[in-house]
Order: sequence, then structure tokens, then C-alpha cells
Amino acid sequence: MHDVINPATEQVIARVPSTDEEGTDEAIARAHEALTAWRAVAPGDRADLLRRFSTVVRDHVEELAQLEVANSGHTIGNARWEANNVANVLNYYAGAPERLFGKQIPVPGGVDITFQEPVGVVGIIVPWNFPMPIAGWGFSPALAAGCTVVLKPAEITPLTAIRLGELALEAGLPEHVFTVVPGKGSVVGQRFVENPKVRKIVFTGSTEVGERIMAGVAPQMKRLTLELGGKSANIVFADSDLERAAATAPYGVFDNAGQDCCARSRILVERTVFDRFMELFEPAVQGVQVGDPTLDTTEMGPLITRSHWESVAGFVTDDAPVAFRGSCPTGPGYWFPPTVLAPVSPEAQVFQEEIFGPVVVVTPFEDEADAIRLANNSEYGLSGSIWTRDLGRAMRVARGVESGNLSVNSHSSVRYWTPFGGYKRSGLGRELGPDALEAFTETKNVFFSTED
Ligand code: NAD
Repeated sequence: MHDVINPATEQVIARVPSTDEEGTDEAIARAHEALTAWRAVAPGDRADLLRRFSTVVRDHVEELAQLEVANSGHTIGNARWEANNVANVLNYYAGAPERLFGKQIPVPGGVDITFQEPVGVVGIIVPWNFPMPIAGWGFSPALAAGCTVVLKPAEITPLTAIRLGELALEAGLPEHVFTVVPGKGSVVGQRFVENPKVRKIVFTGSTEVGERIMAGVAPQMKRLTLELGGKSANIVFADSDLERAAATAPYGVFDNAGQDCCARSRILVERTVFDRFMELFEPAVQGVQVGDPTLDTTEMGPLITRSHWESVAGFVTDDAPVAFRGSCPTGPGYWFPPTVLAPVSPEAQVFQEEIFGPVVVVTPFEDEADAIRLANNSEYGLSGSIWTRDLGRAMRVARGVESGNLSVNSHSSVRYWTPFGGYKRSGLGRELGPDALEAFTETKNVFFSTED
């Protein structure tokens, strides 16, 4: 059993069983048995079931959101968005089974057809920072493609995933088509990697564990999607709407207390407006409402655990160049104030490493080429923002930055209609968007001879 703790109060709110190796293998075996019937469900019927699942999730948004607030310390506003995102993504991929087209390719001597066939049992391994959406981005297209799913939530944030598993059954999905298997990464996650009945792994989490999983699946050539760490740049040019860039920058990095793989945790500012930006940025940071996540007005909650708090605090050493900080509650809960380090050199550890908390570095740059060079001075390449009024520059910089998801004059990264994923050590493959089913299917080519 594992104690589930509310990070805003430090109270134990639930006890969840930790599945052992045998239990994991049983869940995988049942998912494997369920595969034949699930892939044979007519496309329109599979679409209907996914739509029903979406509707049931939508009917439970408030319950799921409250559960996430209690388990993860997410603000209630964010948690409602996250639960709705699961319903939206299910609904979006409910359109896919009836559109899972192959091709008819002109060839001599016959007819050639391709089929997109389900890859098999998919093992989805989810981190603690966005338990609901990250689960949904995996299981929705996987189920739509005709795969069955075993899903392991993070050990510390299992509650919404367990509830989603129950809601799937309530919506009429056949048993064992979507199974939530709570437990440890080193036990349940490891079995997903080792058990040959799992044909594909979708892993979201740290780059370190992602590397291990990539090596682990190699002997069986398992299909793999990896969504890993980030250290994304928010590039602010002198010609931008500086007031807006400064007012929005805190939300580009401190949302979810900075525990966001897409956090714009390096702000790069053109040197000629650096001081002015910092003047505008300070009140914006101090205005971030940090506190009780159950309140509609709260913008940032606590960090997830005491040990994660210690890891984040370890980056703000006594000699760290703290420019200014926001505020946060005292007393129980893993509270950490929004913290701005500036000016920070590109060689500094805090410029290079993912802190995964509400700590941002600000670094000046000289010109467009320097901005691109600094943005790319990272082992990661997940996300980023570009603030400028010059359309040509926005296009050049967007094409120059080695990152999977960029936004111009905004901080949006994830829209379920568009592909999401990382360059370099931020990951492998893409989730979401119109092409996500490719990651859950094998292409089969069949040639029919028409010779006499
Ligand atoms: P983590 O790597 O510690 O754990 C992620 C998941 O993997 C958990 O469910 C864990 O139990 C499991 N796991 C751990 N060891 C395992 C093993 N040996 N085999 C199989 N599974 C194992 O990451 P975390 O601390 O939960 O999450 C934070 C990290 O996730 C950050 O680095 C963040 O950037 C990244 N992240 C990336 C994205 C993205 O889409 N790119 C999204 C969210 C989070």
C-alpha cells in the first residue's frame, strides 16, 4: 500500500495498493486477451464507445478536478481544465476509428493496399505533474487505433487515473480494454518494459528514466514514444509589446508551480530593454496569487512532495543571483515562492538544468542570431515562446530554434489538435494532433496480383 498525501496540507488522503510483478503480468495478460475482440469492434461502434467515455468524463469533471486538487495541489481552475482536456481528447479521437485510412498505391501487375493495424497492448507510464491530460493523450488515440491499454500512474498521484479507469467501464468499454495498474516505476513500469505482450510504451517523465526505458525496450524492438524534460526559452525582443511580454512571463513559467515540462524557465531578453523588462516583470511576479489551491482566485499551488521541494530549493543557493521573489504561504504544505534569478550566464547550472519548480533565470542577448544561439544552448528542445512585432523575425527565429513546440506572442504549448513533442533529449515521437494514430499502428502492405 502507498499513502497518498495532499501537498497543500501534508495530510494522508488515501491509501492505494501497489501492484506487484505478478499482478502487473496478470493485467497485461488480460489486456492481451481483450485485444482480439477490441480490434474487431466495428469502427463506428468503437467511435461511439469513445464518445460515451468522453461524455461520462465530462459529467464527472468537477469530481475529477477536486480529486486532482487534493492529490496534486493543482489549482482548481487548472484541474477543471485538465479534466475537460481528457473529455476533449477522447472526443477528438472518437473521430479517428472511422477515418483510419490506408492507401491504395498504383503498382504494375496488381493492386496494392496498406492497412493501419493496431500495434497491440500499449503500456502508458505517466508522471505526477499532469496526471490526467498526459494519461488521456496516450490512451485516447491508443484505444481509437484498436489497441488495449495498461496505464501506470505515478505512485504519488494515482487517484484521478484510477477514477478514469472506473469511468471507462461505466461508459461501456469492455473489461480489460483499459486497465489502470497503480504501483512503482521499478515494478509495474519495469514489467511494461520487459513483458513481451506489451508491444508499445508511451513514457512521459524524466530524461534519465526515459533513457533507461529506451535501452530496456531495445531487445524486443518495442515501439516507443518518449516525452521527457525541458528547459524552454522565452525570447523577448526589444520590438515586442514589452508590457504584455512581462505581464504574461510569470504564467509561462510558474503555472503548476513550474512543474511543467513546457515551462519557459529561461527568459532571454534583448539587452537594450533588459532593465525595462525587469522593472515590468517584478510587479507581475509579485502579483502571482500563491496559496490554497481550492480557491478560484489562486494561480499557483504547492510543490508536489517534500523531497521535490528540497530538490528545487537546492538550486537557489546562498550565492544565487536572486533578483526578486513572489510570496507564498507558511505552515504545512510544500510551498515555494516564485523566484527570479538574474542576470544568469548561459554556463550556469541553473541555465542548463531542469529545475521543475517556480524558479526562472533571465539572461540578456545581443541580437537575433545570439537569441537563437542561446535558446539552442540546451540539451532539451521541447517548447518556447518568441515575443516580437516583426513577422519576418518571428518566422526566422521559430525556424531557428530547435524545439518541437513554439508560440509567437503567447505561451501556449499544448492544443490537442496539434502535434506535441520534443527535439533532442526532450523526447522521441509526437503525441496529439491529426497524426497521433500512426504511433499506435503498424502499416501493413498487401499486394494482390491481378495476373491470370
Ligand atoms: P519520473 O521519470 O521519475 O517518473 C515518471 C514515471 O515513470 C512514473 O510513473 C514513475 O513511477 C515511472 N518510472 C520510474 N522509474 C521507472 C522505471 N525504471 N521503469 C519504468 N517506469 C519507471 O518523472 P517524474 O518525476 O514523475 O516527472 C517529472 C519529469 O517528467 C520532468 O522531467 C518533466 O519534464 C517530465 N515531463 C515531460 C513531459 C513531456 O510531455 N515532455 C510532460 C510532463 C512531464
